[in-house]
Amino acid sequence: MRYADKMNYVKKSAIRSVMADASENGTVEYISFASGFPDPEAIPQEKLEEVGHKILQEKTYEVLQYGSAQGYTGLIESSKSFINKHECICTSDDDIIITTGSQQGLDLVSKIFCDEGDYVVVENPSYLGALNSFKCNGAKLLGVSLEEDGVNLKELEEAFKKGPKVFYTIPNFQNPTGVTTSLEKRKEIYNLAVKYDVVILEDNPYGYLRITGEEVPSIKSLDQDHRVVYAASLSKIISPGMRTGIICASKDIISKLFMAKQSGDNHTNNLSQYMMDAFLRETDMDAHIKHLQSLYAKKCNFMLEMIKKYFHPSIHVIEPEGGMFIWFDLPDGVSMPEFVQASIKKHVAIVPGNEFMVDSTKPCQSIRMNFSAASMENIEKGIQILGELTYQFCK
Ligand code: PMP
Repeated sequence: MRYADKMNYVKKSAIRSVMADASENGTVEYISFASGFPDPEAIPQEKLEEVGHKILQEKTYEVLQYGSAQGYTGLIESSKSFINKHECICTSDDDIIITTGSQQGLDLVSKIFCDEGDYVVVENPSYLGALNSFKCNGAKLLGVSLEEDGVNLKELEEAFKKGPKVFYTIPNFQNPTGVTTSLEKRKEIYNLAVKYDVVILEDNPYGYLRITGEEVPSIKSLDQDHRVVYAASLSKIISPGMRTGIICASKDIISKLFMAKQSGDNHTNNLSQYMMDAFLRETDMDAHIKHLQSLYAKKCNFMLEMIKKYFHPSIHVIEPEGGMFIWFDLPDGVSMPEFVQASIKKHVAIVPGNEFMVDSTKPCQSIRMNFSAASMENIEKGIQILGELTYQFCK
């Protein structure tokens, strides 16, 4: 088959390969630290069921008829007040488009900015779904090292000198590393983007899941000249299956996204949008988010405690201030791929860090673990198993 060349650069989901390996090994029940699923308890099932029934009864026609490519006006309004509650993200010069998950938002942003061969600068490592979207749209990736307070600014400037159109960043509790970009770096990133005329795509699906430390202003809130495109998602705080993402950007950018969305899927599913709107309006969102924060604080702190108890002391762990992931490095000389294979044999699924790198063929010592999905019991069991492996591998 004569596929497009760009498909050669797109990678299969690492998480799915880890799961496939796990089932090939005959593992029916394994402990998964691989996916990015919310805790089942974090999904407000009863309330969603209630609003879903009511909407289907009372708004039957509106929900079943075609909708608008920009999104349901009710949800546009409620998401605007939601994202603006704690800082000014959506200004009077901005607008919002509702997307089919923020994943589609990232894809649309690459569509409207990238011609074949254009550069997109990304944190290295970064979210695989975004890297694939950029590549599917013909962009070439320039990776910039990620430090524990955000990207390396020298490398960022060198990359910006190559004339990229977009810089993609996840400043809060980054996927996969859990790293939060400091305010100083956010300001510098913004100044460099102005200097080199680069659009910043600020992806913030995890921002509400802070479990410790102080909130840091978004890059969008520092934006003076409409170069920041801000992506939020209701996946991690309400339901990933409803597939509702929010993009906030200048009116001009939103109108381009709107056209790109029309050529893709016309509009986001109406039932999801009406349900998300009703949820946002009828729920005390501060209380809901506090509940999620305390649920995830309990799990994250427990996983970190278990790591301290069971892991070999030579393992370097990044302790996140929120989000869903813990990232750790095996010491030099230890084979990370062999470690991951050994953990799968023991029925514990983790994701090899090279999968999130711009060049996944380069040697890598890192591993990503998710703490939101597994039960407390499985967190302890899984970390104990991995801990035993760390002692076998790090002699
Ligand atoms: N951005 C990041 C950093 C993510 O980790 C994810 C999903 N895990 C997404 C975007 C996409 O999320 P969704 O499409 O469910 O909103």
